[in-house]
Amino acid sequence: TWGTVRDELIKAVGKNNFVTWIEPLRLIGLDGGIARFEAPTKFMRDWVSRNFAEQIRAHLARTGKAVERIEFLVAASRPAPVPLAQIAERPARRRPMPAVVRGADEAELPGAPLDSRFTFDNFVVGKPNELAHAAARRVAEGGPTTFNPLFLYGGVGLGKTHLMHAIAHELRTRRPDLRVLYLSAEQFMYRFIQALREKQVMDFKEMFRAVDVLMVDDVQFIAGKDSTQEEFFHTFNALVDQNKQIVISADRAPGEIKDLEERIKSRLQCGLVVDLHPTDYELRLGILQQKAEAYRAQHGNVRMANGILEFLAHRISTNVRVLEGALTRLFAFASLVGREITMDLAQDCLADILRASERKITIEEIQRKVAEHYNIRLSDMIGPKRVRTIARPRQIAMYLAKNMTTRSLPEIGRRFGGRDHTTIMHGVRKIEELKGSDNQLAEDLNLLRRLLEA
Ligand code: ADP
Ligand code: MG
Repeated sequence: TWGTVRDELIKAVGKNNFVTWIEPLRLIGLDGGIARFEAPTKFMRDWVSRNFAEQIRAHLARTGKAVERIEFLVAASRPAPVPLAQIAERPARRRPMPAVVRGADEAELPGAPLDSRFTFDNFVVGKPNELAHAAARRVAEGGPTTFNPLFLYGGVGLGKTHLMHAIAHELRTRRPDLRVLYLSAEQFMYRFIQALREKQVMDFKEMFRAVDVLMVDDVQFIAGKDSTQEEFFHTFNALVDQNKQIVISADRAPGEIKDLEERIKSRLQCGLVVDLHPTDYELRLGILQQKAEAYRAQHGNVRMANGILEFLAHRISTNVRVLEGALTRLFAFASLVGREITMDLAQDCLADILRASERKITIEEIQRKVAEHYNIRLSDMIGPKRVRTIARPRQIAMYLAKNMTTRSLPEIGRRFGGRDHTTIMHGVRKIEELKGSDNQLAEDLNLLRRLLEA
C-alpha cells in the first residue's frame, strides 16, 4: 500500500528528496506491470526518472504488485488525475505554503536545515580561504549591510556551504530578531514551481520578500531555467532595495555562469565577489589535524604512525570532502584492526582514493614544459617544421604524452596538430631507442618528468 511505500521511500531517499521530488508525483495508472506517474514539469520528470525510478519501482514491487517498469509523463493541462495522497491509507498532509514569515520563527521559513557541524569554530582558515572567511564573518556580525550581495564561489568541496551555514548559525545567536533564510537554488526553484502549481505565487513572493537575510546556495543551478531566473531576479532586487543582506554561492564567478541572464550577472557582481581557492598543503594539514582531534575527543585515542596526516595532506586532492572521507575511513579501519595504523596500512586502506587523487597531467602541459625547456615556441610543437631542433623536442613531448597520460596514440596525434597515430608511434619509438645511449637525453627526460609531476 502506498502508506508503507511512502514511509520506506522516505527512509531510502531522505525526507528532503522525498518532499522535493517524489511527493509531487501523481500515480495515473498501474497495469500490465507498468506504473505510470505524472510529474509537474519536464525537468522534474527527467530528474526523477534519472535518480529515483528504480527505488520507486523496487518499493512498489515489494508490496506484492507486479511492477516491472515505471513511466513518467509530464502533466498536461487536463483534468487533475488522482494525487498520490489519495491512494494513501493514511492521507498525506498537504503542507500549505506559509503566507508570510511570522517573527523569526524558523519553522515558518521554507529553508533547508542547517548542518550543526558547519560552524565558524569548525572552519579552518588558511591562505586559500581567508578572504571568503573574513567576508562571511563580517556578514555574520549582522550589522548594517556593507556589501550586498556577498558572492562566494569556488570548486566543489572547498567550503562554500560550510561558510553559509556558519553565517546562519552565528546570526541566529547574535541577532535572533532577524529572519534568516538559507536554501539551495534548487529548492528555490522547487518552491517556486510548487507555488505556480498551487496558484500561490503571491504568497511565495511575500514570503521571500519578508526575510532579512537571504542565502541561496549553488545559484548556477538556475542558469537556463527561465521563469525561475526571472523570479530570482525580482526577489533579489526587492531585497536589495530594502537593504536586506543577500549571500549567494556558485561554482564559478558570476560572469562565467553560462545561460544566466546578463542583468542577473551584473547584479550579482555589484557587491563583494570572493573566491575560495583550491586548498594548499598547509590548509589541508590544518583541516586534517582539526578533524583528527575532534574524532579523538569523541571516540578516544587512535594510534597512528607519525607522518600519516602529512602524507594524506600531500597526496589527497584539494577537495576537502574527499580529504574528510579518507580520514573517516582510516579511523573506522583503525578501530576495526585494533592496532597502530602504519603508513603501509594507510596506503592499503586508501588505495582507491589515492589513485583517484593522482594529479592528471595534460598533453598541453607537457607540450608547454618541453617547449620551455628546449626554448622553442609552443606553436612549433604542433606546427609542421621538420628541423632537428624542433622535431626532437616534439618527439620528446610525444614520448612523455604516451607515458605520462592515458591518452591513445590517435588522441595524442590530434593534439599534435592532427598528426597520424603512426607518426606519434614513430616519435615515441625514436626516443625510447635514443635514451638508452644518450645520457643527456635520459637526464632531460628525468628532469621533465619531475617538473611535470611537481
Ligand atoms: P562546497 O559547498 O564548497 O562544495 P562544503 O562546504 O560542502 O563545500 O564542504 C565540504 C566538506 O568539507 C564539509 O564537510 C566541510 O565541513 C568541509 N570543509 C571545507 N572547508 C573546510 C575548512 N576550511 N575547514 C573545515 N572543514 C572544511
Ligand atoms: Mg555546497
